[in-house]
Amino acid sequence: MPMRLTRGWIEVDLDAVVRNARAMSARAPAILPMVKADAYGIGAVRVARALERLSPWGYGIATIDEGRELRYAGIVRPVVLFTPVDLADLPSARDAKLTPALASAEAIERWTSIGGRAWHLAIDTGMSRSGVRWTELSSLDALLRRNPPEGAFTHFHSATLDDGTQQEQEQRFEQALAALPARPAMLHAENSAALARASKSKWSLGRPGIFLYGVDVGVAGVQPEPVVSVCARIVEVRTVAAGESVSYDASFRAARETRIATLPVGYADGYRRALGNRAHALVAGHRAPVAGVVTMDMTMLDVTDIPAAVGDIATLLGSDGDERITIADLAEWASASPYELLTGLHARLPRHYGGGDAA
Ligand SMILES: *Cc1c(COP(=O)(O)O)cnc(C)c1O
Repeated sequence: MPMRLTRGWIEVDLDAVVRNARAMSARAPAILPMVKADAYGIGAVRVARALERLSPWGYGIATIDEGRELRYAGIVRPVVLFTPVDLADLPSARDAKLTPALASAEAIERWTSIGGRAWHLAIDTGMSRSGVRWTELSSLDALLRRNPPEGAFTHFHSATLDDGTQQEQEQRFEQALAALPARPAMLHAENSAALARASKSKWSLGRPGIFLYGVDVGVAGVQPEPVVSVCARIVEVRTVAAGESVSYDASFRAARETRIATLPVGYADGYRRALGNRAHALVAGHRAPVAGVVTMDMTMLDVTDIPAAVGDIATLLGSDGDERITIADLAEWASASPYELLTGLHARLPRHYGGGDAA
């Protein structure tokens, strides 16, 4: 499959996304897969189409354009718009048949006055980002009686830490729900890490994101399958003498005669500059250290001890032989979060899909 691909590319295993989603589905009555930010850079339409076979309750997104894209692709399930929008944009959300997360009297009134249908009430239980504070629901009481939400949800700030704050937020969520005139049909709170830790959700929906895309959320026994690989072709190989430098600012100096392979992929492709002199790539099943800083369009590898020639494939993320480089490895090398690394990868690399509806 990669034989015709040149420069660099992202490979996405849609069947692995589906298997990861199935593992999350087993932990909640239904799931609302988060496909915001183009499914974390993996391709929202391709991911949603692949997930259709699991009949998820709906999908979660962050912008109206993301919702429109799913609608144009023929997705008819509920699509929940989680990030607050300007009131002036609510008609566009209605036209795209999105289910907005609302949290103010103005927004709820506007939504119903323009004929908006289902919406979900966002409840802030400690993230302090969006939603009605859990103690302030009484101010919306009359309005909620007239315009009951289809759903209500909250979001945990430290689900990966397992430090007791999630339980505190759950109590606040319960307290908020008890203060509503009626309990909405769809209740949801858990992201991937919270779902991985809960063997069975007590809410109606789980909202997994990063786990679907192959990132380990640090819960023993609940590992996702890898989904994304990033590969590039070697375009030049040179030998530099001991003492010569490689790349900008000459931060890499050859300690001995060194073979340097150049890849035509750089930080404008999402392979971050900070990976320079820290990350490894895989060539012919061996680890090749990145030599010098990553430049905008090219990255250099030290292949002194590795058989490497122009045209060979270097794996920047993924496996080659017995070796594997994970998103967590790259994130650690770049001092970034796996979320940032993954969502930043889509920039200029073509995506190549396997599995799902790819055939
Ligand atoms: C992004 C997001 C999620 C998914 O979080 P992951 O950590 O990627 O599983 C869930 N809920 C909301 C509101 C989100 O914004």
